[in-house]
Amino acid sequence: MNHSGPDAAPPAPPPAALRLSFDADALAANWRALDRLSGTARAAAAVKADAYGVGAEQAVPVLREAGCPDFFVAHWCEARELLGLVPSASIAVLHGPLTAADAAFARATGVRPVINSPAQAQRWLDAGGGPCDLMVDTGINRLGVALGELGDAALAGLEIDILLSHLAAADEDSPCNERQRSAWEGLRRTIPHHRASLANSAGIALGDGYHGELTRPGLALYGGVPRRELDGAIRQVIRPEAAILQVRDLGPGDSVGYNGTFTATRPMRIGVIALGYADGYLRAWSGKGVLRSSGRALPVLGRVSMDMTVIDLGQAPELGEGDWVSADYDLPAAAHASGLSQYELLTLLGKRFPR
Ligand SMILES: *Cc1c(COP(=O)(O)O)cnc(C)c1O
Repeated sequence: MNHSGPDAAPPAPPPAALRLSFDADALAANWRALDRLSGTARAAAAVKADAYGVGAEQAVPVLREAGCPDFFVAHWCEARELLGLVPSASIAVLHGPLTAADAAFARATGVRPVINSPAQAQRWLDAGGGPCDLMVDTGINRLGVALGELGDAALAGLEIDILLSHLAAADEDSPCNERQRSAWEGLRRTIPHHRASLANSAGIALGDGYHGELTRPGLALYGGVPRRELDGAIRQVIRPEAAILQVRDLGPGDSVGYNGTFTATRPMRIGVIALGYADGYLRAWSGKGVLRSSGRALPVLGRVSMDMTVIDLGQAPELGEGDWVSADYDLPAAAHASGLSQYELLTLLGKRFPR
């Protein structure tokens, strides 16, 4: 008998029945395209939230290799992960130092805090200070020093590398864009700094006046297209794929899944795949999503469940248990079809996808 006792380590798990196909070339090409579209500015990369769900471990080294000089994350724990992946890169934490421990971590690692308030500025100086970034709020009213607070004495003591502001509606033709650009231009003239940065992905498409010395794309790196001007410049990077767990035949009148929201009117062959809303394939796709095999469309039937989705195998009769299918997940089209935002479609992708 080949008993392993209770103390023996279990064997490595077999491969999961779902995966995220990841196109490293497309990610690198997207960074290069955005860097080119940024004109004389360099493109950085927003890699918060595990590189928007794509997986920092696979995405960040590819971006670095493509030439990306600067990385932005939201949380300090995300900076820690990046230090292990790209130790020589410039890393900044957008949430800034909320505690003395955050400031001490920044001092010990060389990760730059983005200072968002006079209180954060003072906390950074109290910890010893050093190079940092400064976020000024020019109209989004979210995070950042308010224009009325710029006279605060603590701010005058900062050693500012990147002077940032963030656009509230760059994906629309809003008058807000020009108002924010002009306020940020004023800041560039009055606050000493090395590099100025305003544009996110959509802001890059607004033109030279928005570029400064550094742009900060996130969404478009990963295949998102927030403005029509970027159409054709951006390639799809990830695609959810899942294995067929079971195949069954339906007769007329048989219904599928919870609450029987789909009922067959003719004989059908269906497949149950290992992908569900717990993986980020939300119920928004119920009756709407399309899986594919060699280009053939296999529509989602009935409700998406937590761990499973049922698809119509009519166009691919040869498929059976263990065969793989991939979800239509071109982000602009998927956002249109599902009602979810391109950002949500990326960051939803669940922990069960091996990355
Ligand atoms: C997330 C983020 C970005 C990237 O925005 P995208 O719209 O994903 O390109 C840039 N700057 C800041 C401050 C951010 O929080």
